[in-house]
Amino acid sequence: MGNIQLMSTSLANQIAAGEVVVRPASCVKELIENSLDAGAKHITVSLREGGIAELVVQDDGVGMDESDATLAFARHATSKVYDEHDLTRIRTLGFRGEALASIAAVSRVTLTTRTRTSEYGVLVRVEGGEMAPVEHVGATYGTRIEVTDLFYNTPARLKYLRTVQTEQAKSVEVVQKAALSRPDVAFTCQTEHHVLFQTPGNGDIRAVLASLYGVGEAKQLLEVNETTPDYKVTGLVGRPTQGRTSRSGAHLFVNGRPVRNLAIHQAVIQGYKNRLMIGKQPIYSISLEMDPTLVDVNVHPHKAEVRFSEEADVCRTVARAVAKALDDTLLAPTPQRTT
Ligand code: ADP
Ligand code: MG
Repeated sequence: MGNIQLMSTSLANQIAAGEVVVRPASCVKELIENSLDAGAKHITVSLREGGIAELVVQDDGVGMDESDATLAFARHATSKVYDEHDLTRIRTLGFRGEALASIAAVSRVTLTTRTRTSEYGVLVRVEGGEMAPVEHVGATYGTRIEVTDLFYNTPARLKYLRTVQTEQAKSVEVVQKAALSRPDVAFTCQTEHHVLFQTPGNGDIRAVLASLYGVGEAKQLLEVNETTPDYKVTGLVGRPTQGRTSRSGAHLFVNGRPVRNLAIHQAVIQGYKNRLMIGKQPIYSISLEMDPTLVDVNVHPHKAEVRFSEEADVCRTVARAVAKALDDTLLAPTPQRTT
C-alpha cells in the first residue's frame, strides 16, 4: 500500500478557498459578480463589522431552482462555461465555478433564492461545507446570500484579517468598482449603522461618480469616447487639477470587469501629456470593450488581472482617447471672460 490518498471534498474545498477567499471583500466581489451574471438590476450589499461578522448580497436576478441552488455549492459547478471553447470567449464575470464552494467551505452561508416561475423560495444552509436539508420558504424574486462568521473554522486565516475599518473599506471599494462598471444597475452599500452610498441605476456613469465622490467633483470630469475597429474606449477622466496623491480614483474596466493594469494606467497618464502635477495620479473611470478572444481573463484566481494579446495597441488607443478628451476641453477657446 502506498501513502497517497485522495483528499476529501471538504478538505479540497477549504484549500481551494485559500486562493479565492482571502477576506470579506473577496466574498463581496464574487457574490456581486454572480448577481450581475444573473441579470440583476438592483443589488444591495450589507456589511456587519466590516463584513467579518456578516455580509449579505441581495439581488433581483433570475434566481435558482431547487436543484441549481444545491448544485451551486459544488466545486467546478457552473452554468457559465460548458466546454473548452467557451473559455476562450468568456462574456460572464464568473466562469471558474469555485466561488460558492469556496465561500461555503470557510463560513456559514444561507442562500435564499426564487425564480420568476416558482411559487416559493428555496433556502439552503451550508456550514463549513456541510449542507443542511433544503427548505421551502416565502421569498422575493432573486437571490440573497448571507455569509456569517467568515473563517470561523480556519483560525489561521481569521488571524490575518485587518481591522473592521480596513476590511470594510476593501469591501466598499469592491462595491464601488462594481457600481462604476455597471451604471445601469442600482447598487446600495450599507453597514449595520447606515447607508454608505446608493447609485441610481439609470445608466449614467457620471451619476455613479456623483454618488461616490460628490456632485461637484463628478461635474468636472471630461468625457472619453473613442471607437476603433478593434476597441471602444468610453468613460470619464478628471481634469489635471483633480489629480490625487494615490491611485484610489483610477478605475479600469475591460469588457465590464474591474481590472488592474499598470500599462494602461501609464497610458492614461501619457494621455495627460505632462499636464498632471508631479506626484499626482489621475482620477478616471474608463471602460474598454473589445473582442473577448483578444483578452485573457483567466490569469489569476481573483480575476483582477488580464492579459492582452495586443497590449501596445490597447495602450496607444487609450492614450489617444484620453488626450483627445483633455485637448478638446482644455485647448478649446475659452468663452468670453469677465474681468
Ligand atoms: P461561477 O460564477 O464561476 O459559475 P459560482 O460558484 O460563483 O461559480 O456560482 C455557481 C453557480 O451558481 C453559477 O454558475 C450560477 O448558475 C449560480 N448562481 C450563483 N449565484 C447566483 C445568483 N446570485 N443568482 C443566480 N444564480 C446564481
Ligand atoms: Mg461566480
